[in-house]
Amino acid sequence: MAIRKNKQSEQPDRNIKSSASSNKKSNRRILGMIYVFAFLFFGMIGYMVYFIGFQAEGLMGNPYNARMDVFNDRYVRGSILSADGQILARTDVDADGKETRVYPYGTLFAHAIGYSTKGKTGLESAANFYLMKSNQNPLFQVYNELTETKSQGDNVVSTLNLGLQQVAAKALGDRNGAVIAMEPSTGRILAMVSNPTYDPNTVVEDWSALTAESNTGGNLVNRATQGLYPPGSTFKIVMALEYMREHPGDWQNFQFDCDGEYVDPENEKYVVHCFDGEVHGTETLETAFANSCNSAFAKIGTEINKTKLRELAEALMFNQDLPIAISSSKSRFNVDSSSDTWTMMQSAIGQGTTMMSPLHNLLITAAIANGGVLKEPVMLDRVESVDGKTIQTFGDGAEQKLMSAEEASTIGGFMRKVVTVGTASKLRTDAYAAAGKTGSAEYTEGGKTKTDAWFTGFAPYDHPEIAVCVVVEDGETGGRTAAPIARAVFDYWLTERS
Ligand SMILES: [Zn+2]
Repeated sequence: MAIRKNKQSEQPDRNIKSSASSNKKSNRRILGMIYVFAFLFFGMIGYMVYFIGFQAEGLMGNPYNARMDVFNDRYVRGSILSADGQILARTDVDADGKETRVYPYGTLFAHAIGYSTKGKTGLESAANFYLMKSNQNPLFQVYNELTETKSQGDNVVSTLNLGLQQVAAKALGDRNGAVIAMEPSTGRILAMVSNPTYDPNTVVEDWSALTAESNTGGNLVNRATQGLYPPGSTFKIVMALEYMREHPGDWQNFQFDCDGEYVDPENEKYVVHCFDGEVHGTETLETAFANSCNSAFAKIGTEINKTKLRELAEALMFNQDLPIAISSSKSRFNVDSSSDTWTMMQSAIGQGTTMMSPLHNLLITAAIANGGVLKEPVMLDRVESVDGKTIQTFGDGAEQKLMSAEEASTIGGFMRKVVTVGTASKLRTDAYAAAGKTGSAEYTEGGKTKTDAWFTGFAPYDHPEIAVCVVVEDGETGGRTAAPIARAVFDYWLTERS
């Protein structure tokens, strides 16, 4: 060192040169290190993006996949929002990192949103893949990985409207049943209420009580999509359509003289009465539909082509899985070529063994409102990253043609008459023109005859914006019990909503 010092002192110029050259070398070394680190760093980001963006998809398709746990460790489950931006489900994380799934509206959205703590139901199941994936800025995600913090999963915006859901739930009150509403031109489900309900916030604690044999309420069942009820007179929609198909250009001449009952001419034990002892007099197909005349339709039932009726029912999705992302039940229609006269008289008025879900009735109604074309129901609108970026939009439901535009227009006209002169007088208003069909389906429970009260319809008649289906268990009649609930839903959507 001393020698060097001397040299330095003797040859200051060289010293400067030497120092510069040694700096160059170490700069090059540092630059090299930076390149290596940058390469590693960007390589890591690349891998992360690849992993997050592509590899994850295959692993999360199945909600029962054990490898889902990997994502529970990496991501905080995203939120589910209403179409109007309210949080319907979110995950809170406390200081110790303990996560709690919170449902701010408690029982209100229980069946539509579902739960994610005892298995997964509702949108918690249908949207699971999106909620467990994160499109948060990849740099944040890498940082989170390095600091062993979880990234925030994406949020899912549903089609459900908070205000409409509240109105529908309030109108149904504490009665058992369901209210489900949809936009016919898009398939967007706007509201979905089912009673009795449960609180998804405490479903783990309440589980044994909810699933106890003594609990016969079926609180966990989503009656809107899984509940099966005899359709009663709402089935006259299917019967009228079949009658028109069998009598093209001639059904307008249908005439029936209602004296309050129809007796099978070959077996007088087979008698069907009009509701409440009513006598409807001379009717066309349209007025028989508007009056919901059981006698006229029982007679149609005895004359109809059973095989074709079965084919029509199945084309209208009876005995089929319904096209919806959440769990639903198949409606049942058992009529075939071997069905006897009594079965036909009963089936024609929606009694007998025919069973139908409110969702199914809604879909047929929505297709009528939409010129015969069903827009399949959708409950998800879009996926957003936690930083507010739209990741994916789902668009309208797929199309399915259920009937011709002419048939839809004719049946829609019949449904309008139900409101203007028929059994749905509770829906008469100057504010908008509603159309629909009532139903009062009788069933026996514990030796007592009870009535499921139905209304399925749409409004405004000329440019339908909303279709709704209501069923109330143990109600009075469709007109008295279910129609006022539909009225509340229409009123809110068409006149009160801001
Ligand atoms: Zn009658």
